[in-house]
Amino acid sequence: MDCLFCRIVGGDVPADVVHTSDRAVAFRDIAPQAPVHVLVVPRCHITNAGTLTEDHAEDLAALFAAARRVAAEAGIDGDERGYRLVMNVGADAQNSVPHLHLHVIGGRPMAWPPG
Ligand code: AMP
Repeated sequence: MDCLFCRIVGGDVPADVVHTSDRAVAFRDIAPQAPVHVLVVPRCHITNAGTLTEDHAEDLAALFAAARRVAAEAGIDGDERGYRLVMNVGADAQNSVPHLHLHVIGGRPMAWPPG
């Protein structure tokens, strides 16, 4: 299987990596939608949130732990700043890369609901 984010995790495709752990890798989105836009991915291949099972519990916990670290290092943690965590699933959500990823988006006020 040729998966872009598996290749980034494996170091075969360059990325601006900002954080790693034993189960997750975080790197800057190539087309940022905000001053902070980082993708956090599991090292193992999971297609999207619609395919998660209980077996993925530790990977999912690692994604959220990494996201928290990314936000803290970017200085956007805490109630006065804050950030948005997004997981797109499928075509209507414009999910373009079929490897589970958590978008960490922040650094500016954001509208809700999204368009
Ligand atoms: P999604 O639309 O939720 O599947 O998000 C995929 C994201 O991956 C998009 O925001 C893209 O800009 C981003 N992306 C695609 N290729 C790369 C890459 N080589 N390095 C970093 N981010 C990428």
